[in-house]
Amino acid sequence: MKNKEEKRNILKLGSNKSDILSVISQHGPISRSRLAELFGLSFTAVTHIINNFIEVGIVKEIGNGHDLKPRGRRSALLQLNEDYGYIVGLEITDIRIKSVLADFSGNIKAVKRIIFEEHNKDYLIGCIIESIESIVNEYAGSWEKIKGIGIGMHGLVDYENGTSLTFPSSEDWENVPLKSILEERFNVPVKIDARLYVATLAELIYGEGKYNSDFIYFNSGPGNGFNIGIVLDGKILRGNKGFAGQFGHLVLDPKGPRCFCGSRGCLVTLASPLAIEEKAIEAIKDGINTSLTQIYREKKNILFRDIADSALKGDKFSINLIEEAGRYLGLGLSYVINLFAPPLVILAGTLNEAGDMLLSTIKREVGLHSVPQVYQNVEIKFSSLEEDIAARGAIALLLRELLKKIAEEI
Ligand SMILES: [Zn+2]
Repeated sequence: MKNKEEKRNILKLGSNKSDILSVISQHGPISRSRLAELFGLSFTAVTHIINNFIEVGIVKEIGNGHDLKPRGRRSALLQLNEDYGYIVGLEITDIRIKSVLADFSGNIKAVKRIIFEEHNKDYLIGCIIESIESIVNEYAGSWEKIKGIGIGMHGLVDYENGTSLTFPSSEDWENVPLKSILEERFNVPVKIDARLYVATLAELIYGEGKYNSDFIYFNSGPGNGFNIGIVLDGKILRGNKGFAGQFGHLVLDPKGPRCFCGSRGCLVTLASPLAIEEKAIEAIKDGINTSLTQIYREKKNILFRDIADSALKGDKFSINLIEEAGRYLGLGLSYVINLFAPPLVILAGTLNEAGDMLLSTIKREVGLHSVPQVYQNVEIKFSSLEEDIAARGAIALLLRELLKKIAEEI
């Protein structure tokens, strides 16, 4: 079943040179004969194209093996040449930058993190530049091997022009031409898209997307990122200007707390990790009885992980916080599930630290508020990918662009 679905997904890609390169990238090691079959081309035509790829060093042969018919003739397998160069990927949230360095096969070579101490524009741009410079200088050795930078950016992004339109926790960040700033500075191609988009792309390429063409991807981020990626027929629904998926701004309590979008009672103000942390700190200051008080005294702060840990150890107050968040999330997800009837909803990000306690509350709430026949046919589960997968998505984002450009130039 899985192979059939995978083959269907591959065939959707079409049949030009950049698509062949893309299939080698995503589904390699793969043989020439399988590529010929998938693209409906002759073996000679595929060999001609592959020879060009091998000549410029983007593709390499890795010995003989079977990839299509286990009992068939063994043939040379092809994959991207990981030594072709390095790519830098950044995931930028409202509280930190995660930077990764990957080779051309997408293997992660190094990971670094920078936590923001303030949110003014000049400081944030300085942090972005520092995060790129430090990972390249420490782990790549030289800039000659760097082929580009991919970024999954917090807030709204004009992905066509590479402009970061908003950074909700920053007061002076508005329409920042981040792509041109970084391309001028580093002289390599830069591709920027919304963090949620690249996280969804990572799930599509490395996670459930291998087996499912339709799913809803929810990523709770470590701060206030709280949106969904809607994947239909193997493609991410972008909406006008790429702004689709503003799940965190579904209004669940019109008289609730003021949201940074200008509205009141948005889901993000009620159930995001940051909102839950703030609720916990406020209650501790009011003298509520909870094991979190001791942690707050020691660290002068409470993180969502502390609340999840205390809840799992039986702290009643922490359990209530998690269950309340789960109820809001389940209610919000029931709207999405009723609208799109997806076969699968994937939960990713910081909230997953609360584990089954959160998941069971969400499922119960979705069951209460969605059409029974729709609910019976939806699976809700945690992503199997690591929490901050978006930096890998940012690498995939840039790699797609680069492969297209390389294929066009050959
Ligand atoms: Zn809002």
